[in-house]
Amino acid sequence: MAGLVAAARLRELGHEPRVLEKGTRAGGSMLLSSCVVWRHLEWDRFREECPDGDGALQRLIWERLDDALGWLESLGAEPVRRDTENPLTTGRRYDPRALTRLLAEAAGEVELETPLPKEAEPPLLLATGGFPGRLARERGLLLRANPWSEGDGLDFAVARGAGTTAGMDEFYGRVMPAPPARIREEDFVPLAQLYGREARVFTDDWREITPQRVAWHENDLAQLVGPRAWYVVEETNYRIEAARAAGATVAGREEGIAVHVAAAVTHTIGGLHVNTDARVIGTDGIWAAGVDAGGVATGGYASGLAQALVLGLAAAESI
Ligand SMILES: Cc1cc2nc3c(=O)[nH]c(=O)nc-3n(C[C@H](O)[C@H](O)[C@H](O)COP(=O)(O)OP(=O)(O)OC[C@H]3O[C@@H](n4cnc5c(N)ncnc54)[C@H](O)[C@@H]3O)c2cc1C
Repeated sequence: MAGLVAAARLRELGHEPRVLEKGTRAGGSMLLSSCVVWRHLEWDRFREECPDGDGALQRLIWERLDDALGWLESLGAEPVRRDTENPLTTGRRYDPRALTRLLAEAAGEVELETPLPKEAEPPLLLATGGFPGRLARERGLLLRANPWSEGDGLDFAVARGAGTTAGMDEFYGRVMPAPPARIREEDFVPLAQLYGREARVFTDDWREITPQRVAWHENDLAQLVGPRAWYVVEETNYRIEAARAAGATVAGREEGIAVHVAAAVTHTIGGLHVNTDARVIGTDGIWAAGVDAGGVATGGYASGLAQALVLGLAAAESI
């Protein structure tokens, strides 16, 4: 999202960027997403929900998102919904395939299977999607993201003097059915076990860890569940039936219906320390956008796509 947006904006401003993509297709995790590009409706709520995040970056995203959505529409992006179906947030929902196609065309040629070279020269915008793959492996969690985001942008900039933000161990994630459930990329959205607010939570050795309060986005539950846990509910629902059909362990217990679950990493929260021009602090001629730029949602959860859109535009304009 961030890379394609920045390239499209740079072309609009008369530049000819090269767009290097490590994967076999354009669109990164955006292509796999529900594609709701949103911000908190109230500024104070954003601060409250992401209390350890960088206030200046949060303000930039909160203030610029509505215009940035207007910019997307100026390119021809048609939302499938003009609201988020959540009274706490505002934004637009797009069809991820249509948005990827549109942005990839506006970005010019996307050079596939062409990772960032180690000797790449500035000016350079890093938009490699953070390090969800690496974090998931280190923590024994599932991955719910594109398979190519391994922290290449982060390593590249840190080796050139960049600093990192708070929240390097935090992730935005979802609770998914645990293996042996088979989860394909197209199952990332429908298999999310999004009924945790109604569930009791047990560890694998059956110790109850149900929290007193669960946030509306249930991201806090993903952190609590970790590599394995059980959700227990009184009645089944369509998400449990989808998990069962995918091969998940669903068992009848004295306490109710138990579903074996695991946390999956969608994107990382910490990352490179950037300013509001998306310049990587401590480096010369390097920018970072999207979730390569860290510290926006530290301590909570905010829209990764909004972060990618606004910082992608800010980076292009600064460059
Ligand atoms: C199932 C799912 C649902 C989601 N739903 C939402 C939602 O509704 N709303 C929301 O706001 N967010 C959502 N997200 C999160 C959102 O998709 C991400 O936060 C967003 O895509 C981040 O944008 P980005 O540009 O930083 O990274 P990405 O969109 O992931 O793009 C990073 C790109 O960098 C490429 N890359 C990696 N390493 C290199 C390298 N070395 N050289 C060149 N290229 C490289 C990758 O292949 C990828 O194409 C969802 C994610 C998933 C997986």
